[in-house]
Amino acid sequence: MKQFLLNLFFPRFCLNCKKEGTLLCYDCFSLIQILNKRYCPFCHPAKPGNTCPSCQEKRFIDALYAAAPSNDFIIKKIISQLRKNYFKDLSLVATFIIANHLYLCNRLTVNNDFVLTFCPCSLKEKKKIGFDPAEEIAKEIAKALKIEISGNFFNKKVFLVNDVFTEEMDSFAKKIKEKGAEKVFALTLARD
Ligand SMILES: [Zn+2]
Ligand SMILES: [Zn+2]
Repeated sequence: MKQFLLNLFFPRFCLNCKKEGTLLCYDCFSLIQILNKRYCPFCHPAKPGNTCPSCQEKRFIDALYAAAPSNDFIIKKIISQLRKNYFKDLSLVATFIIANHLYLCNRLTVNNDFVLTFCPCSLKEKKKIGFDPAEEIAKEIAKALKIEISGNFFNKKVFLVNDVFTEEMDSFAKKIKEKGAEKVFALTLARD
């Protein structure tokens, strides 16, 4: 009922084909090339797997789960729309895509050893957009995976959320590890 009322007052149109009904229709969702593998976030060209041993020596992110290739045209549209406040609910779409990627490539059991945090955007950007896109996605992922958003990283495995993977995430991962985190896994829509 609530959803019906929301649709009535705020009609949704697919961000790709403009069909009325949802923010991303099923046909367009199925065009996204959701990855079933993860890749070393620092190697170019990317090596499959976790952060590779040679990158691990000087980096802090242990693995990157990036849901789709960065040149995927629907993912590009989602990322650009996420930065406009009237598309705030796109964080649900982003979460659905990230959760699908985790399901496709992941054998890890998410339990109480995990907490979730996000890479905050600048205050200037937050003011401009009206919210922090990474924070909104993190809130939805926390609900979907049934884990807490927390700043208590001691002995925890930490999911670090952002819309796209950036090198900056690694400096953030360094701070998380300084607070005692066991592992840091980056979780994003695209690699960069
Ligand atoms: Zn569509
Ligand atoms: Zn590497």
